[in-house]
Amino acid sequence: MRQRPKKPRAPVACRPRPNSPLRTEKIVAKLQPVRGTHDLIGDDARAHLAIVAAAREIADRYGYGPMSTPIFEFTDVFQRTLGDTSDIVTKEMYTFEDKGGDSLTLRPEGTAGIARAVISGGLRDKLPLKCFYTGPMFRHERPQKGRLRQFHQIGVELIGVAEPSGDVEAIALGADILDALGILSETTLELNTLGDGESRAAYRDALVAYFTGHTDKLSDDSRERLQRNPLRILDSKNADDRAVITDAPVFDDYLSDDARVFFDAVRSGLDTIGIAYTLNPRLVRGLDYYSHTAFEFTTEALGAQGTVLAGGRYDGLIETMGGPATPGVGWAAGVERLAMMLGEPAAATRPIALVGMGEDGERETVRLARELRRAGLTIELLYKGGVKRGLKRADRTHAAAAVLIGDDELAKGSVTVRNLDSGEQADVAIADLTDHLAAYR
Ligand code: ATP
Ligand code: MG
Repeated sequence: MRQRPKKPRAPVACRPRPNSPLRTEKIVAKLQPVRGTHDLIGDDARAHLAIVAAAREIADRYGYGPMSTPIFEFTDVFQRTLGDTSDIVTKEMYTFEDKGGDSLTLRPEGTAGIARAVISGGLRDKLPLKCFYTGPMFRHERPQKGRLRQFHQIGVELIGVAEPSGDVEAIALGADILDALGILSETTLELNTLGDGESRAAYRDALVAYFTGHTDKLSDDSRERLQRNPLRILDSKNADDRAVITDAPVFDDYLSDDARVFFDAVRSGLDTIGIAYTLNPRLVRGLDYYSHTAFEFTTEALGAQGTVLAGGRYDGLIETMGGPATPGVGWAAGVERLAMMLGEPAAATRPIALVGMGEDGERETVRLARELRRAGLTIELLYKGGVKRGLKRADRTHAAAAVLIGDDELAKGSVTVRNLDSGEQADVAIADLTDHLAAYR
């Protein structure tokens, strides 16, 4: 059977021309980063790395070694531990089915993965585990200043220590990192206790009784929380909820003796090392697995997103995951929020620019660049272009000095070093160059 001739293609002129606004718009829309994600470029990337490096150095001093878990886990790892009613599980997780049919989730936080690793990696015999981690986290939230869908955290965990001195150490480590970054004085440490199981059950009953009398004023989310996890209503950011929360019962009235002794020990430990705090009886952590100590370092400097570092004790977590009862305490801090507080990042090391001229000069420049870099100097190699353009470009890289390498000087075994701040020039023998440039380190 004869096939019908294909419809002729639309004439080329009907499609958007290469530079038409129509075409550009379409392409650009596709090339935007996904909402709530960002690229880290130049100074931003440098600031990010500097924060992580400073934190890592302090963590090392405390004996918290590096640890890294996968960016995605089986969904269960988060679902079971964070709690079915937590904001993260109900609204914020990036969950997908992989090609094998497993439900996987991009990690919204770091603790659940580390607890999973303690169980699956047999680390239970090597406790206490003291670790520092960093990396991207993913939450499908409404993006705004300081609130992203892919953001980064630094965090620490101390697993296997049940004593209040563990809480004190974790908090001190957080404070010292903020101090090393120069922002501790702009923060307030808020502290609360979520008690033990017995206290929480008593407090829960009191909250249910109170909120049940005010259901008409609660948000839909909080009415749902009232059924499943009334404590979490206290964590609500909804304005109507906040009004009702003001007069809610406080945990302090329901603390068991054991829980009070524990909390007092944490407080006196902080007093001993001179870490100031404010008691905040409304402070609850957003996740299900916390008990006893809850804390946040908050700031006025960041507007609505004022929590920079937050954590607490999670003695029930590993058991919830099916492991043996194992105490733990830890915290996480948002690197983007820390970076916003830090402002301008520290200037990068000023490089030394190498400007090659002529065929021999350019060849020697490449060789010298490698030699000087291997000697520990920061070298910016400027390819081609002669003295004038070379110096202009050297200036643009904020170089401290330029080394001019031309055929004539090379014949004499020397190069010209120009101090770009003072304009002074010197002829320097190639053999002495590394020593001469040490002054610019
Ligand atoms: P928030 O109350 O601001 O939603 P959270 O209780 O959800 O915070 P945690 O899960 O305790 O936050 O995470 C610890 C820290 O990670 C926060 O204090 C904050 O600095 C940072 N963080 C949390 N979510 C985001 C986000 N979406 N974007 C940027 N940073 C975040
Ligand atoms: Mg949140």
